[in-house]
Amino acid sequence: MTAPLRIAIPNKGRLEQPTAALLGDAGLSFELSRRSLSTLVRNANIEILFVRADDVPELVADGVAELGITGLDLLAESEAPLEVIAKLGYGHCKLAAAAPTGSDIAGISDFKGLKVATAHPTVTARFFAEKGIGITTIRLRGSVEVAPKLGVADAIVDLVSTGSTMLVNGLRQVATLMQSEAALVALPGTVAGGDSRRVATMLRAVIAARRKRYVLMNAPADAVNAISDLIPGLEAPTVVPLTAKGLVSIQSVVAADDVWAILPDLERAGASGILVLPIQQLIP
Ligand code: AMP
Repeated sequence: MTAPLRIAIPNKGRLEQPTAALLGDAGLSFELSRRSLSTLVRNANIEILFVRADDVPELVADGVAELGITGLDLLAESEAPLEVIAKLGYGHCKLAAAAPTGSDIAGISDFKGLKVATAHPTVTARFFAEKGIGITTIRLRGSVEVAPKLGVADAIVDLVSTGSTMLVNGLRQVATLMQSEAALVALPGTVAGGDSRRVATMLRAVIAARRKRYVLMNAPADAVNAISDLIPGLEAPTVVPLTAKGLVSIQSVVAADDVWAILPDLERAGASGILVLPIQQLIP
């Protein structure tokens, strides 16, 4: 048997659970163990490496793993020359510059000469250097948001999703350095075929499916046009005659975010027995 394809994924933190769930939804069956460094997938020639999210870019760049899943912020911070094969639709956050609420730091130019605490010193230094604003970065691995309170730094650059942690710590966001989410990464040009490509296709299919719902309903045949206008589907809805005369079953794929708004309109157009189902995988 050929050597297994290796995929490096986070072994703890915010990306751990959603990443394992994504691989599971893609059909890979494996044991999730906090203690082991790696595990073999039961139903494919794949080995999963459980590593720190911030080690993923390096391991893929060094060829230890062919594929990796990590945050775009960590990819940028590592400066590893990797290609983003797919954005994965979870782990959304932004890297933001923030200053104490009471300070007179109103804009990015007010950061000139300040000490800026961050777990992302490379991205931070590059951002301010590109704008010609001289700062000193203080590298912290955690609890970045308390640095100004402790007198360690004047301001921070940190990840934000809801913004509540910053508020609680008396910080005000001043600028966004970058948006981040989880991503599948690889060395450029290496996902052209074979198992890497298969995995990338499977993951994309799961991500696409999560954004869609399968909607089925019964309707009078003369309501098909009105209903089709509401749910055009991937190409066109499927219309199947029912044994009851004059009735059809209409089936289509609808954006998950739109379902709530469309259902009352479908009912008004004559649909009944409407079912909304999740989709496991979708290749358009
Ligand atoms: P963690 O291992 O939990 O410290 O976080 C690892 C990664 O999760 C980060 O580098 C981001 O890519 C992602 N993430 C998503 N939302 C957040 C957030 N609100 N704070 C920190 N990290 C986040």
